[in-house]
Amino acid sequence: MSIIRHRRTRILATLGPVTSSQAMIKALFEAGADIFRVNMSHGNHADKATLIANIRAVEEMVERPIAILADLQGPKLRVGAFKNGSVTLKDGQNFIFDLNEALGDETRVQLPHKEIFEAMDDGTNLLLDDGKLRLQVKSHTSSSAICEVIVGGLLSNSKGVNVPNAVLPMSALTAKDRKDLDFALSQNVDWIALSFVQRPSDVAEVKKIVKGRASVMAKIEKPAAVDALGEILDHADGVMVARGDLGVEEPAENVPGIQRQIIRKARRMGKPVVVATQMLESMIVAPVPTRAEVSDVATAVRDGADAIMLSAESAVGDYPEESVSVMNRVANKVEQEADYMAGTMEERMNANATTEDAISAAARQVAKTVKAAAIVTFTTSGATALRAARERPSVPILVLTPKLEVARRLSIVWGLHTVHTRDVEAFEEMIGKSKRMAVRSGIASAGERIVITAGVPFGTPGATNVLHIAWISGQEVMD
Ligand code: PGA
Ligand code: MN
Repeated sequence: MSIIRHRRTRILATLGPVTSSQAMIKALFEAGADIFRVNMSHGNHADKATLIANIRAVEEMVERPIAILADLQGPKLRVGAFKNGSVTLKDGQNFIFDLNEALGDETRVQLPHKEIFEAMDDGTNLLLDDGKLRLQVKSHTSSSAICEVIVGGLLSNSKGVNVPNAVLPMSALTAKDRKDLDFALSQNVDWIALSFVQRPSDVAEVKKIVKGRASVMAKIEKPAAVDALGEILDHADGVMVARGDLGVEEPAENVPGIQRQIIRKARRMGKPVVVATQMLESMIVAPVPTRAEVSDVATAVRDGADAIMLSAESAVGDYPEESVSVMNRVANKVEQEADYMAGTMEERMNANATTEDAISAAARQVAKTVKAAAIVTFTTSGATALRAARERPSVPILVLTPKLEVARRLSIVWGLHTVHTRDVEAFEEMIGKSKRMAVRSGIASAGERIVITAGVPFGTPGATNVLHIAWISGQEVMD
């Protein structure tokens, strides 16, 4: 078992062509990455299987449970292809989208999603290529639309299309997503991320297929998802503030406020929240970040996000290790600021009327009062650990679980240090084990106290009802 990290905010690094080897994955872990994202939008299943095997090999080397998040592309809309690969659209000109497969030119191109034509109104805005071009629908039928180019520019093959104001009558899963989801589950990934969630039922649909084999994260990148956030969070196991597409669908100035709102709501509900995209964008090509990027990372940490994410920086950039290392340093620094813990106060209110929440809140308070070194919590389903993290205690939370998949899934959560261990059968055994594990993981030492929470009788999920204060003697240090 390796020594735990003291940083509470988790670092999620996307792996890609420059970081797919075991050596690079290990280097990223050592620089501070806790969990990894596998982006299903690129590459084939054979390569992904190798990548996942490489992450598991590193997990074994470093002796820490590591979550793998498989990110499904979702119903990302794209234009078809052009005769010459691209066209330049001029402000004020007309341009047509249709279902016709013929190669496009200056006057038209295919938009192979009939649902768009059904959902649009005259006046609907279409944003192309990450919002660089903007067109407005002047008139349309169920198979074509005549648009006016409001902001023109170069439009090339397969560029993305965003329709901010429309809820499209499309399933959250495309045919490709279904295949990717089957594959990801067969590979025992820990989290499935779902792109372009529009409604709570999108998440419910995926949860029904996943059947508990992985946790499900809803990516919030559509205005409709922001509006339905509460209900989406009821269904999802976690959420991602997917600022890339969100910043196309919403005016950029709306994104910081939405980020804050999503973090707050997720934290109140005790569900992990990830802040993603462009956190250290300039580091794709530069060894140092901008001051603004450092501030952005700091803001996410201060708001109490569970995890901060790297995309292109770690997947295709020139400085993947440096990017992780910058996040690591910034998060550590912010967490040491005098008012960091005070800033996490508000969201811990509205506890549920359950024994779990009562014990979790008490554990935080008791740990503070007796100046305990850590809270140690036993969990089978992971639910108690999530409630413990929701309290944002100022001491580390050591989570002991007999289930490897639970240990992995929890590795995305703020402040949790999960250890996969054999189950305990008796109260005394539990206390002994808690002390030994706390010492071995470097969380506590002789003469310190730990606060233990568990459910008695053992092996009954959802029954956390015991809070115990234990004192560590010299003996545990020897063991
Ligand atoms: P993506 O999602 O990288 O899969 O597009 C994140 C985002 O949109 O921010
Ligand atoms: Mn996206």
